[in-house]
Amino acid sequence: MLSLQFLGATGQVTGSKYFLRTATHRGALLDCGLFQGGRALREMNWNPFAVQISDIANVVLTHAHLDHTGYLPRLVQSGFAGQVWCTPATHDVAQFILRDSAHLQMEDADSANRHHYSRHKPALPLYNDVDTERALGFFHVQERHAKKVLQDSMSFEFSNAGHILGSCSVLMEKRFDDQAGSSAPSAPIRILFSGDLGREHPIYLNPKEPPPAADFVVCESTYGDKQHHNIEPTEELLGIMKDVLASGSVLLIPAFAVDRAQELIYCLNSLIRDGKIPAVPTYVDSPMATSVTALYEKYPEEHTMSPQELQEPDKNPLSFSSLHFTQTVDDSKRLNDLKGPAIIISASGMATGGRIMHHLANRLPDPNTIVLFTGYQAEETLGRDLINGATTAFIFGEHIPVKARTLSLTNFSAHADQREILLWLRQMPAAPKRLFLTHGEDGPRTVLKAVIEKELGWNVVLPKLNEIVDLVSLMS
Ligand SMILES: [Zn+2]
Repeated sequence: MLSLQFLGATGQVTGSKYFLRTATHRGALLDCGLFQGGRALREMNWNPFAVQISDIANVVLTHAHLDHTGYLPRLVQSGFAGQVWCTPATHDVAQFILRDSAHLQMEDADSANRHHYSRHKPALPLYNDVDTERALGFFHVQERHAKKVLQDSMSFEFSNAGHILGSCSVLMEKRFDDQAGSSAPSAPIRILFSGDLGREHPIYLNPKEPPPAADFVVCESTYGDKQHHNIEPTEELLGIMKDVLASGSVLLIPAFAVDRAQELIYCLNSLIRDGKIPAVPTYVDSPMATSVTALYEKYPEEHTMSPQELQEPDKNPLSFSSLHFTQTVDDSKRLNDLKGPAIIISASGMATGGRIMHHLANRLPDPNTIVLFTGYQAEETLGRDLINGATTAFIFGEHIPVKARTLSLTNFSAHADQREILLWLRQMPAAPKRLFLTHGEDGPRTVLKAVIEKELGWNVVLPKLNEIVDLVSLMS
């Protein structure tokens, strides 16, 4: 027996979790993501877990983003004591992300209690720093392209997904040769989890690898209904910078602290170095982004920047003379008085928490501020609301008038668009028996299903939350 249960990212882009269960009833959890976005989604993190925790022997992570790892401390708090597998870079990035998440959970609960804006009395964090440190204690690293054998004749192998530092697609394999004479299949069953798929031509990350052969594929569909603009990210940013310089605005960029912040620095560096813009004062107000920047030196195999250039101040593509990293809360507060033209880059990228919230609260009422979104904005996030033209923003229990301009750069996305997903799938050596589309809202994944059925003739399924699929029966 081998079943696959979809525990998240079914019709939305967060909460990625998939459970592969074997005949012993135990199995492996692929990704362990937090639901993020509106209240209904966030409250799903508080529901009892749909799989008995003691059935989870291993967790295998595709990458460190919170919507793929952020539920781990909660899983540990609920009794999980197995092993968590990921690449070395994912391990390093996840430490920052999970510690930051625990900090935000605790801070949010504290703030809600002080300002009395929670329905829960008292408001509690989903998990705290103790849960997070315990979760990090269960981590084990595994390099890409090295098969790791787990219990119950299951194994997995990582390949590069080109999405963020350390990101992977995961090929899970279940062998049945120890069950001779039973009704079990003779050949192994292979299930490929795409993880989040990067772009065809990432800014500096090494691009994703072609997918290996698999019987089943669980594939992301974030941009299943869209094509990114055919413009170089640096050129797109130049257009915005001309506007910022002409109007003397402060450009406020909510950016994911991992890769997105560094990609922006990389592109700004190249514009300044090429003399296309002056050295605009730029502040990275995210301790996590500052810490992650150091990981590029540690993992040169993840990207195209050489260790030598990263170490030389004059050549470092992730640095320039007017770039400043703020560390303390006081440094961050001093940015409140910053005059344009200037740039503030701060997390989180969908304006769901972090220091960016203070900057938004301070600058949204100012018509001389430009808020620039650079990645996917999930439903029911402040980021999505602002892009949709919200005239007020609800931050820290207050309604803030929005007078700032809001722009977005979709070409900075770390996610493949429809054409790039198709391009990747076409490289499979043979059609899988089923393709399950997850990690996309229902609109995009429905469009992508139709396109794949038409172009590739594959059998495409849109799984529902908690749906269980018997993979053995689908093999015949
Ligand atoms: Zn991701």
